[in-house]
Amino acid sequence: MGDSDVQSSVPVVVAGAGPTGMTAALALNARGVDVTILEADPEDRDRPGSRAIYVHKDTLRTLEQSHPGLGQRLVDEGIIWSTRRTLWRGKEVFERTYPNPGGDDGLPPFTSLPQVWTEEYMLEAVEENDIDVHWDDAVETVESSEDGVTVETENGNVWEAEYVIGADGAGSTVRKEIGANFEGTESENSFIIADIEEDPENPRTKERVFHYDHPKAGGRNVLLVPFQGGWRVDIQCKEDDDPEQLTNDAIISELVARTLGERYRDRVVWVSEYKFKQVIADRMIDDHHRVLLAGEAGHLFAPFGARGMNSGVADADAAASAITVALHAEIDETAIGEIAHYGIQRLKAAEYNKNAAGQALEYLQGDSPITKSKKFAAAKAADFYEPAGEWLDDAPYGPHGGPPVTIGQY
Ligand SMILES: Cc1cc2nc3c(=O)[nH]c(=O)nc-3n(C[C@H](O)[C@H](O)[C@H](O)COP(=O)(O)OP(=O)(O)OC[C@H]3O[C@@H](n4cnc5c(N)ncnc54)[C@H](O)[C@@H]3O)c2cc1C
Repeated sequence: MGDSDVQSSVPVVVAGAGPTGMTAALALNARGVDVTILEADPEDRDRPGSRAIYVHKDTLRTLEQSHPGLGQRLVDEGIIWSTRRTLWRGKEVFERTYPNPGGDDGLPPFTSLPQVWTEEYMLEAVEENDIDVHWDDAVETVESSEDGVTVETENGNVWEAEYVIGADGAGSTVRKEIGANFEGTESENSFIIADIEEDPENPRTKERVFHYDHPKAGGRNVLLVPFQGGWRVDIQCKEDDDPEQLTNDAIISELVARTLGERYRDRVVWVSEYKFKQVIADRMIDDHHRVLLAGEAGHLFAPFGARGMNSGVADADAAASAITVALHAEIDETAIGEIAHYGIQRLKAAEYNKNAAGQALEYLQGDSPITKSKKFAAAKAADFYEPAGEWLDDAPYGPHGGPPVTIGQY
């Protein structure tokens, strides 16, 4: 080690200060476990795009338990839309407005706000709890044994930990270091995703709108989702589209003007083009039951159904629970069993989420004659049979509900 190198020892190291890593740290801290976060980016980083705007109630509850007030803050700063609407080739086939947001324990079913805000509030909670964060210090190597884990960073710092949570995102170094591999597929079509700033003088009614074959968007499917301060416009490319061309400033502005309204033409603040991956690591833990993958380090899903950040938060809480039990275990077998249980449960959850997002993706891009004729038949029947319209409204997000839940222990 060089002069500036540090050798430190902590019960738990979390790699990554994204939403998964920060939740893991807060959930461990709430359980009385000391934790250090190592983050590759500098503290003044700029994270682009609204990304995980749709925050599920389970996530709000987990955040509230990990740092009282945090879940509620996301609710206070976010928005809840009460109308969902679906149009087929420009004609409305379903509309439902809910009289109140619902929720029986003080938290609503969801809230919608930019992921950067969520991360900002999480970081404030991390700082309030005096959790150690080392910025600009990427994890480079992870070596586990039966007795613990040694983590070395790019800056040459060395950490000895009982357990490590790899929450270092899609390109996870921790995943590679434990020899786990992503397996899965990628979407056939590309999707264009743009963030549009709200017009404060004349805001649109906050409602989630799905257009099948939008006549003003060249017959492409278009999803409009409001979040606090703006709109997500999600356009599904056709097979022969050149996605790069569609993200060109003039073209995306034109599509936004046609789908969201002329006043939004010059309000595009971020645009990107994606092919969605549907992949899961072949295992969520290392051979020695000392390293746990969480969030996008362990799985990537297409965003329909909002299973990305939400499932990362669930992983994080389950990892914190398992590690807490393992740290207090009187015999090794209990500790090993607890971590093994995490590995199995979260792999099952990832499979559930992948299948659910996959169903949505297949429905959206699948051109099987059966799917196509079901959609046409439902669009025809929607005028006189509401469930047909409701099915068209629901299907782009996959099945309702979530994977089997493991109850966290505090
Ligand atoms: C267009 C789009 C829309 C989305 N919409 C939704 C949605 O509506 N709802 C939803 O739930 N999800 C959504 N998602 C997914 C969501 O953004 C991700 O699932 C979420 O950011 C994953 O969080 P994470 O903490 O696991 O990973 P990340 O957010 O990627 O965080 C990983 C962190 O680890 C750091 N890191 C990387 N390598 C290292 C290293 N070697 N050492 C230390 N640190 C490292 C990174 O700098 C980063 O800070 C969307 C994503 C996209 C792209």
